[in-house]
Amino acid sequence: MDASDKKSSEKVIILESGKCSWGKCIFCSFGKKECQRMALEEFKERISRELGNCNIRTLKFFNSGSFLDEAQISGEMRRYLFSKCKESGIGSLIVECRSEHVTEKRLREIRDEIASIGLKLTFAIGLEVADNEVLRKIQKGMTLAQYERAVNELQKQGFGVRTYLMANLPFVGNVKKSLDTSVKYALKHSDSVAIINAFAYGFSPLFEMWLRSDWHPLDKKEFEMLVKEYRKNKKINIYFDDYITYPKFPPELQKKLVGIGKEYLLHPYFNVWQEYISRFYEIPQSKKFVLFLPCSFRKPYSASRTHREILKRLVELRQYPLIHQVMLSNAGVIPREFENKYPFAHYDWQEWLETPQIKKEYIEATQNRIEAYLAAHKYSAVFSYMKPTSESFAALKGACAKLKIKLVSCVDGALYSELKDKEAGLIKRAGDDRDERDAHENLLINRKMLDGMMDVLRKRLC
Ligand code: SF4
Repeated sequence: MDASDKKSSEKVIILESGKCSWGKCIFCSFGKKECQRMALEEFKERISRELGNCNIRTLKFFNSGSFLDEAQISGEMRRYLFSKCKESGIGSLIVECRSEHVTEKRLREIRDEIASIGLKLTFAIGLEVADNEVLRKIQKGMTLAQYERAVNELQKQGFGVRTYLMANLPFVGNVKKSLDTSVKYALKHSDSVAIINAFAYGFSPLFEMWLRSDWHPLDKKEFEMLVKEYRKNKKINIYFDDYITYPKFPPELQKKLVGIGKEYLLHPYFNVWQEYISRFYEIPQSKKFVLFLPCSFRKPYSASRTHREILKRLVELRQYPLIHQVMLSNAGVIPREFENKYPFAHYDWQEWLETPQIKKEYIEATQNRIEAYLAAHKYSAVFSYMKPTSESFAALKGACAKLKIKLVSCVDGALYSELKDKEAGLIKRAGDDRDERDAHENLLINRKMLDGMMDVLRKRLC
């Protein structure tokens, strides 16, 4: 299904009615959803509402599968849609369909149904790639011969054909060469062609390929480079994919990630998230400044005592809405808005088991991730409120130095050392067996330390 077509002169209706009869394409998550066919009354109500006061020339109607599959769209639904198009003055209707549902008999019926309406009906077929071997591997369930048969049938009966191609599919070998071949082939058989950037949504096998690092999506810049020669072709529409979203893990992949060392530092789940955050994510428009904060053992981070105390003070700032809070942890760089998303509230890094080697690896991996983040996302100023002795702070300092970005620490180093020494002395005198690290962690919520953070932010935020 193509969820990327949207323009002001046209309207797109995306409707879930029945499951795609195929449902096996490896990049698709929509088509796998169990879904009952919509009741006729519900369908009518939805179409009527959507087309209510519309003044459009073209309607794109997508039902995550095949318009000609009666198990998804019944004849009555179809005819109702045609009648509403007539009523609304819509001259062109584009629907999607798999090739096996394109039959001479069904097309004849439809031709009669729209004969008096004056509606131009175009069938969009998701071919994806003009290569039988790749079609087999991506489990498209269609060959080029089957595609051509459907196209010939449609054209013979006077219907329009639009072909969808997917750029950067796995198994294609040379991505550019594959796209060029596919575009040439699709143009030969269609009235128009749409090129869509492949992206791996959760619940699709392609997402698992991404987790295994067997495949990676193209970011906007890479995609633009790939398709730029087609931009001027009026028969081709190009979509980076406006529906790209954060990595969504299906329940069967969700497990608690507890441990330490490389396995939990460079875990595929964290790597995919970091790739998303540095290559696809866009920081909220309202955020002008970034404040890097430590992670916390308790999840989500904002439920921990350290974060609660920090937040209690931060909200006092007039500029609070402009501050983007970003946590640093073994899971990577985590903007506050993702703290509840899997796996950020479902991991524990066992800090007490850290060795000098693990600390070194942590700093290296975290610095690389921060560099990628700050290179991709620009802020007016970069702040941190972290222990000056922590590995996360060392990584942040290293990243900022490398990128020549000024880092403003909101921790008063002298005060921190003084409090740390005092705390260590108290522990020693009391024979307290608490780990010294815990004591230092709590220094971040010391009143004087928090006052210091607020002083720095008040002075520098403008
Ligand atoms: S045919 Fe379309 S809806 Fe069905 S599985 Fe393939 S991409 Fe998904």
